[in-house]
Amino acid sequence: MTREPALVIAGAGVAGLTLALALARHGLAARLYERAPELTEVGAGLQLSPNATRLLGRLGVLDTLAPAAIAPQAVVLRQAASLETLARVRLGAAAEARWGAPYLVAHRADLQAALLKRVREEASIELVTGALVEKADFVRGGGVRLSLRRGGASEDVHTPLLIGADGVWSHLRRLARTSVRSRFTGHVAWRTTLPAEDAAGLGEFMPHDQVTAFLDPRFHLIAYPVSGGSRLNIVAIVPGEVPLNAWEQDADDRPLRKALQSAHHAFARLSRATPSWTVWPIHQVDAKAAWTRPEGLALLGDAAHAVPPFAAQGAAMAIEDAVVLAACLARRPDNRPAALADYERIRKPRVVRVARRGAFNRLAWHAGGPVALVRDAVLKMRGETTLMADFDWLYGFDAEAGQHR
Ligand SMILES: Cc1cc2nc3c(=O)[nH]c(=O)nc-3n(C[C@H](O)[C@H](O)[C@H](O)COP(=O)(O)OP(=O)(O)OC[C@H]3O[C@@H](n4cnc5c(N)ncnc54)[C@H](O)[C@@H]3O)c2cc1C
Repeated sequence: MTREPALVIAGAGVAGLTLALALARHGLAARLYERAPELTEVGAGLQLSPNATRLLGRLGVLDTLAPAAIAPQAVVLRQAASLETLARVRLGAAAEARWGAPYLVAHRADLQAALLKRVREEASIELVTGALVEKADFVRGGGVRLSLRRGGASEDVHTPLLIGADGVWSHLRRLARTSVRSRFTGHVAWRTTLPAEDAAGLGEFMPHDQVTAFLDPRFHLIAYPVSGGSRLNIVAIVPGEVPLNAWEQDADDRPLRKALQSAHHAFARLSRATPSWTVWPIHQVDAKAAWTRPEGLALLGDAAHAVPPFAAQGAAMAIEDAVVLAACLARRPDNRPAALADYERIRKPRVVRVARRGAFNRLAWHAGGPVALVRDAVLKMRGETTLMADFDWLYGFDAEAGQHR
């Protein structure tokens, strides 16, 4: 057995890295085990709404992220068949003034790099890469015993508290409850990023200073700039299946291209400009099931409650979770079971509400026939201020203070 860490985090994704920083801010140490030998570029674009950037700012991450992030001027919803604009939510300075923090878009790799840079500045955080947590069990007398695979060898570690931040396909979820697994939503995400030069011809159709969402019964497609504006991130969500549960797979993209062909002819230009797409099956985890065990376990981020990307809040929820869990542990240093129960009680209603909003968006965005007609009429009737006010509960929330601005 190696030296016993007071707290182990399994997984150095957005959730795990943010938690380590949030703990350090309260003077609490953590050891992170990450199975990847290096934290490299996986995933694609992320929208980081003000409820997340407010917290990243307090953790000192925003300054590092700033050169790679973009503050889009608006989110614009358009019909994919006619390209008609249905709604426009102002962002940029208006978002910052209303919700107290910027609305940003960035590549997931840039966010992870900014988090990592801050993690390396904190002496109380120990990051061990190339360390796969293979097994974890509660032990009599308290805490958790982990079996690690590292550099071809096995190693056992005991810790009083294990945080499972191991993503949507979490193995540690099993420790919290036996029956809940991630569930395939029936949708896949096709993702690509185009160099700005190659995307120049698409500027009129999907302007590079905004988030554009195209709605269609067969798909919805979102485009926005990442990597300091040097690339355009495009993700299309379509019904379908893929064989593996993996982050980025090459696959036959004919179903995607066929769906795009059925929309406005401008999508043919997009199809020509995108030589390759990677596909990613979208899974979800029911947020209502247990996230903690008093013996010494908490799940965080996608491991606890993967929410499908229809509200663009998965990473934001992971960041909110991390800040709240750290505060709960700091507030009750002598009563860990109570701290874990506080965390779950505080976070669950918020995540369940966000998941519900995502489920609503999924129905609304993929609607067809009369339902789509009603949706379009309602959206067009609403003014910009009313549309912004709809997001106050989500973007105006300060998870650390537990209240809205
Ligand atoms: C198409 C799509 C678009 C999205 N867009 C947005 C968006 O716009 N805004 C937003 O907020 N969210 C978005 N999300 C969601 C967001 O990407 C996730 O919610 C977020 O990345 C979850 O972070 P996490 O740290 O919980 O998990 P992950 O990022 O999956 O991190 C888990 C980490 O754990 C490691 N790991 C796994 N198992 C082990 C093990 N046994 N031992 C050690 N390490 C392990 C992994 O290698 C990984 O580094 C989107 C998701 C999809 C599918």
